[in-house]
Amino acid sequence: MMAQYLALKAEAGDCLLFYRMGDFFELFFDDARQAAQVLDIALTSRGEHNGVPIPMCGVPAHSAEGYLARLMKAGCRVAIAEQTETPEQAKQRGGSKALVARAIVRFVTAGTLTEEALLEPRRANVLAAVCDLRGSYGIAACDISTGRMELEECPADRLGAALARLGASELVAPEGMADVPPDAIPRPAREFSSDSGEARLKQLHEVATLDAFGAFSRPMLAAAAGLIAYLDHVGRGNLPLLLPPMARSGAAHLAMDEATRSSLEVLASSQGGRRGSLIDAVDRCVTGAGARQLADDLSAPLTDRAEIEARLGLVAWLHGDPLLRGDLREVMRAIPDLGRALGRVVAGRGSPRDLGQLRDGLAEARRIHDYLQARKDRPALLDALLPALTGHGALTDHFARALVPSPPTERSQGGFIAELFDHGLDELRQVSSDARRAIAVLEAKYRTETGIAALKIRHNGVLGYFIEVPAKHADALIAPDNGFTHRQTMAGAVRFNAVDLHEEASRIARSGGFALAREEEHFADLCGRAVADRHRIAETAAALARLDVAAGQAERAAEGSWCRPELSDDRVLDITSGRHPVVETALGARGERFVANDCSLASADRLWLIGGPNMGGKSTFLRQNALIVLLAQAGGFVPADSARIGLVDRLFSRVGASDNLARGRSTFMVEMVETAAILAQASERSFVILDEVGRGTSTYDGLALAWAVVEAVHSSIRCRCLFATHYHELARLAESCEALSLHHVRAREWQGDLVLLHELAEGPADRSYGLAVAKLAGVPAPVVARAKAVLERLEKGREATGGIAAGLGDLPLFAAAIEHKEEVVDQLRSRLEAIDVDALSPREALDLLYELKREAEKLP
Ligand code: ADP
Repeated sequence: MMAQYLALKAEAGDCLLFYRMGDFFELFFDDARQAAQVLDIALTSRGEHNGVPIPMCGVPAHSAEGYLARLMKAGCRVAIAEQTETPEQAKQRGGSKALVARAIVRFVTAGTLTEEALLEPRRANVLAAVCDLRGSYGIAACDISTGRMELEECPADRLGAALARLGASELVAPEGMADVPPDAIPRPAREFSSDSGEARLKQLHEVATLDAFGAFSRPMLAAAAGLIAYLDHVGRGNLPLLLPPMARSGAAHLAMDEATRSSLEVLASSQGGRRGSLIDAVDRCVTGAGARQLADDLSAPLTDRAEIEARLGLVAWLHGDPLLRGDLREVMRAIPDLGRALGRVVAGRGSPRDLGQLRDGLAEARRIHDYLQARKDRPALLDALLPALTGHGALTDHFARALVPSPPTERSQGGFIAELFDHGLDELRQVSSDARRAIAVLEAKYRTETGIAALKIRHNGVLGYFIEVPAKHADALIAPDNGFTHRQTMAGAVRFNAVDLHEEASRIARSGGFALAREEEHFADLCGRAVADRHRIAETAAALARLDVAAGQAERAAEGSWCRPELSDDRVLDITSGRHPVVETALGARGERFVANDCSLASADRLWLIGGPNMGGKSTFLRQNALIVLLAQAGGFVPADSARIGLVDRLFSRVGASDNLARGRSTFMVEMVETAAILAQASERSFVILDEVGRGTSTYDGLALAWAVVEAVHSSIRCRCLFATHYHELARLAESCEALSLHHVRAREWQGDLVLLHELAEGPADRSYGLAVAKLAGVPAPVVARAKAVLERLEKGREATGGIAAGLGDLPLFAAAIEHKEEVVDQLRSRLEAIDVDALSPREALDLLYELKREAEKLP
């Protein structure tokens, strides 16, 4: 057995090997150790290998799915080795000692799941392949649970953004390729050949040329080849559902890199979960397919105005008719996940229930079609979707006749083909039920003949049908020549067989077996019909998902009084009463009110420098405007009273380092790498939000960098930008940068307490309120009082010396400071400014204060 195991394990490579033994999947050696730890199950041992006990653990085969799900979550891949013959067959083949043959029938990997239990209903499950062809990258991605496949080519500087958008659960790349994410699975480089990619796609979709699907470049086809080869490997030659590929062009989408996505918390919050993310605050879809489409829309907002307007038109139409929207959502809520049911059927892992779902889902789609078709004033996108909702009449009629109303998931027991569908099957079932009736008659006959009223005919999996009597009556039946043969003696009961019972039982078994085989044939035929119609069914599923997204967006807009954005080709961003959807929802849950703010950027006033106290609402304001752009370009309404948005080609969001301490790499380094990317990639049409960039280093460095970045964004990139900063000194840039204006979040001190108004106002921030924020945060009163005294001294010093930015007077253009006082560099003030009060322990704060005081005393 070990030899067989080791051979299979060699084939499984770095996947855990699930080795089928009877009712269990067993794991051995390191696999066992790893699985026992992840699954928290007992690690035992079995036999010996090279003189040491072999570690082993196992999971029951019938509940393997749950364990697989946990292994997938932990990042493992699994090879399933099944028994490919019965023990009887093995004995016939090789004698009584023969080992049952086993083979790896499939690999279970995070990106190639189709099982309902292993997939999250509201998230697409993406498998991607990437390759490099002479400096240009090809990316192929598919969600095999629904068959969606897309190909993309991008230059090196867009690769990160493209992969970030896909958020693949599994990525494969040619061995030895440079610049791939470290968790990519290496595959033989020869599998990434564009010729074989093209050939495979043509063969798969039975076309002579791929032109009808789009224009695909060599790198795209090479990546497709790698993807399909991997699917072949994982499915052991059994390819899952793959729909015709779509070419995705980078320029058609609003580009966002990984840093931007995570700082805007588009699909996951900074804590990692969906809670607190943008999608969580926006998603009102009633189907899993709708939620997946919405996630896709938000990950890849559009840049084409006509396409965005088309989506908006549908949302507006549904927004304007709450009754229609309500009805539609009610009907859609009950629709099964067509795409995923189809995915399982095509992958050969479908069940009768999946076929029932196809029947019901397609029939509902048809109803929706008729309902919407009857409406006048339909928006253009709806007209484009309607044809996809219908046209399955023949298939649904056939399925309706063939299947029982709620077919089971398990098909080994049969019973899913409806009565009257197949005359022959009905006859076989009739034979069974006649025989069953005959058995009931036999029972009565035996009772009369033997005079034992307690005699029963029973059935179990081992003996089949048998006669059972209480032990005290057994002697009467055991007596020879009375027609009964003894089979089994139990505690308290004895079991017998009889010739006529045996005959009836055989009739049941025979006809039952024939019936099962017949149902299997029908099942295969029904699956075949679904597979033949797979493209049309997938189109219907996609159209339903699109409708659900639009209705959900309209619902969300109605809930929060959102508005339809007006799109423009000018470089404007004009938002009145904008809100942050996530923060507003969170505040609402606590009964607090969100303060709406306006934003108004245009070519002549394109960079807003925003100051004000910590916790004043700067980050929130920055992000809400970026999210409004994102939502609008994804084709939805936005949380504002009105919004005029000049289309954006790239969105950048950066947060100064100290908010991102968890990242590992030197935080300032990260901050600068990310900032560098903006300076290299942003165009005039981009929108950039920069939150406290520069604070990850010393005050001087930070201020200098922030200064230079603002100048570059303003004068060379010339894009729209919101820049939050606590460096007052940057305000002086307003004098040299004609399209830059100063703003601040308002705060007031009232009876010694700080009141944050979260309201944006024009002009520079008057002061930083650092001490008031410290007090608000619970820094002990004596420490705050002491800091106040130090601050007074420092401010006096600043008045005398001119402050940190005094030297900037020498820079051409910048003459006067806001204070209109001549300023001189002041070390102490800059040190105080650089203190992140929130990050100090009381003890550190006190030490720091003594140190500052010592230095203050040295001042003139
Ligand atoms: P900053 O970036 O200025 O430090 P944040 O934007 O992080 O401030 O906001 C701090 C907190 O203030 C938020 O978590 C939120 O609770 C609250 N807040 C921010 N903006 C608003 C607003 N417009 N209306 C109401 N509360 C807000």
